Amino acid sequence: MIKQITVIRNVETIVAYDEKTGSHAYLNNGDIAFDDTSILHIGGHYTGPFAVEEHGQGRMLLPGLINIHCHSDEEPLSKGIFDDMGTAALWGQAMYEYSGLIEISQEAREASLTIMLGDLIRSGVTTLLDIAGPHDAWLPTLVKSGARTYAAPGFREASWHVENSHRLEYRWDKARGREAYEQALACVDAAEAHPSSRIGGVIAPSQVETCSEDLLIEATAAAKCRGVPITIHAAQTMAEHEELLRRTGKTAVKYLEGLGILDERLILGHCIFLDSHSWTRERTQTDMELLSKRGTSVAHSPVTFSRSGMILESIGRYRRAGINVGIGTDSYPYNMLEEMRRALICARIAGKSVFDIKTGDILAMATLGGAKALGRTDIGRIAVGAKPDFSLVDLNHPAMQPVYDPLRNLLQCAAERAVEAVYVDGQCIARGGKLLGLDYDAAVQVMKEASKFAVSRIAKNDPRGRSLGELAPLSLPVLN
Ligand SMILES: [Zn+2]
Repeated sequence: MIKQITVIRNVETIVAYDEKTGSHAYLNNGDIAFDDTSILHIGGHYTGPFAVEEHGQGRMLLPGLINIHCHSDEEPLSKGIFDDMGTAALWGQAMYEYSGLIEISQEAREASLTIMLGDLIRSGVTTLLDIAGPHDAWLPTLVKSGARTYAAPGFREASWHVENSHRLEYRWDKARGREAYEQALACVDAAEAHPSSRIGGVIAPSQVETCSEDLLIEATAAAKCRGVPITIHAAQTMAEHEELLRRTGKTAVKYLEGLGILDERLILGHCIFLDSHSWTRERTQTDMELLSKRGTSVAHSPVTFSRSGMILESIGRYRRAGINVGIGTDSYPYNMLEEMRRALICARIAGKSVFDIKTGDILAMATLGGAKALGRTDIGRIAVGAKPDFSLVDLNHPAMQPVYDPLRNLLQCAAERAVEAVYVDGQCIARGGKLLGLDYDAAVQVMKEASKFAVSRIAKNDPRGRSLGELAPLSLPVLN
């Protein structure tokens, strides 16, 4: 069968992969040709056969962004509810006390996932790893989006309970955790066996401190024998850091090293509270060395954590230590370009220097770093033989003007407003901000209803019986 070849002529700026340096570079006024499996040509005039011809003047062709850590399920529904809240005794982190108060019905899960996919794709994401609970619509919706996706069904043996808003307790139910683990394995196997080549599975013990040592070791072996990545939330909060210190005397990184499971297959979300972090008290710097030595990747998600007053110290330093870093949006607003902008700003604040990281490093994290974390060399780069996953950025968009350095303008100013079209496997999956495979607008309507239900349940779900006004006060008072 002859594959349909598309050529885009004279693209004003191609962000191409330079084999010599192993990084991205600007290639101006070049042709690109691709079919539905790979990029065939980049550079001078393409003279081969083609079925479709487009013109690339006024456009930047950007490698598809890779989001290695996000959550659908109830996260899109949590938007704007507890943003001003936190638990003082748990270093201000709101997750433990408040996240369990949000309820999502089975019917709203598909809409919630659609919202996440739509928001991510229109910000230039072509590959994403969704950590969520398995449901019937999960794999079909991921596939329908047209994006390259990894389903990472979370499982754990302990759940969180915050007593009196200050004491974090772990309620263990190993039988239930095992059941969730078995379901997760079945889901990963279904994703891997799916006829679509664009979907895969990832083993995802939910948190380092909510799974037993045995389960973490077993899950790592299961990932290895399937040849799939594994991801665990670790060193993500001070509460978790202190819990592990109490239980084992070790930081999360040293605990995982002790279990023998730190390796290049592992992606740690979000790896903030290492022994070198100023909030911890170790005053050593061995966690970074270990991560680098073992080739373990970090999923960096600065938006959600900085919103709670927490910052990784610093991502430039992690990279200089030799750690592979990818970017994940974690929760809302599911905007990869905004996440990258925040990563740049947070690095420069935490690193106390503009020199902590450069714009090009941020793009490398969101593309090559993510690809490496997933064990791939065929995505996150515009190179002959790589997958034709990319977005077209409108260089003439008003928010991009005036253009001296297009990547800086995209990250610092225009973000998704200038993303004109997104391609995966050479096929357009979003154009003009609209998803082609999923009905985003219908999902918004479902989510409006789901939100009314979720808000009505918040006070009922609170073990302390607080009112909605106490739990989720509005940002402004309401005048009578
Ligand atoms: Zn997460």
